[in-house]
Amino acid sequence: MIIPRVITIDGPAGSGKSTLGANLATQLGYIYFDTGIMYRALTLAVIEANCDPHDAVAVTQLAEQSEISVHAPTQNDGRQYTIMLDGRDVTWDIRQQSVEKTVSIAAAHPSVRQILRARQRAIGMQGNVVMVGRDIGSIVIPEAPLKIFLDVSIAERARRRVDELTARGESIDEAQLTESIRVRDERDRHVMQPAVDAVHINGDTDTPAQTLAHVLQLVANCPALR
Ligand code: C5P
Repeated sequence: MIIPRVITIDGPAGSGKSTLGANLATQLGYIYFDTGIMYRALTLAVIEANCDPHDAVAVTQLAEQSEISVHAPTQNDGRQYTIMLDGRDVTWDIRQQSVEKTVSIAAAHPSVRQILRARQRAIGMQGNVVMVGRDIGSIVIPEAPLKIFLDVSIAERARRRVDELTARGESIDEAQLTESIRVRDERDRHVMQPAVDAVHINGDTDTPAQTLAHVLQLVANCPALR
């Protein structure tokens, strides 16, 4: 069995896995790949095509046809990377509310997941990648030598989001935010598959900096990543 130099990070929305993944990749000189962007870009294609996200056949057809790619940032506007959908920059469009609300529906079709997982696997198997998602360690790259599952309670995720928005001068109802995180978790429940051999990290007790230090220690102790 080929052991790729891949670190997988799975966990729920808002758990800080993207920040951890991006920082880890920078420290190690690896590529950072957030698989959520693929489901988001596909969902944008579904919305723009006026396609019903519940229609497995139509969404699968769009998944087959859509060309989704990730590039180094092409603009200096705060983006971590540039996402292209069929040759168009959709980096910010995939974050819009309509995508947020629909993505779990479009992502739930097994035939859609099969197509996107194969593309994710092809990227991961090239090695030197930190790959972030919900099912990466368990299904996409089960051979990865280091798998992290980052878990953070709904209350803590809500608290962090409120802090983030407050720092930006925006106000938000914490109870409403907590409820929307709970609903998203519930919708994603069936796609969330922690690997049996994942190292579980509790983000409630550790700060993001402590979590990064912890994972770097795990990397240092993992012979396959040297
Ligand atoms: O990680 P992010 O919140 O950007 O993911 C957006 C959505 O994409 C998730 O809510 C989930 O429905 C879907 N997703 C998935 N499998 C992954 C990554 C994301 O189903 N590996």
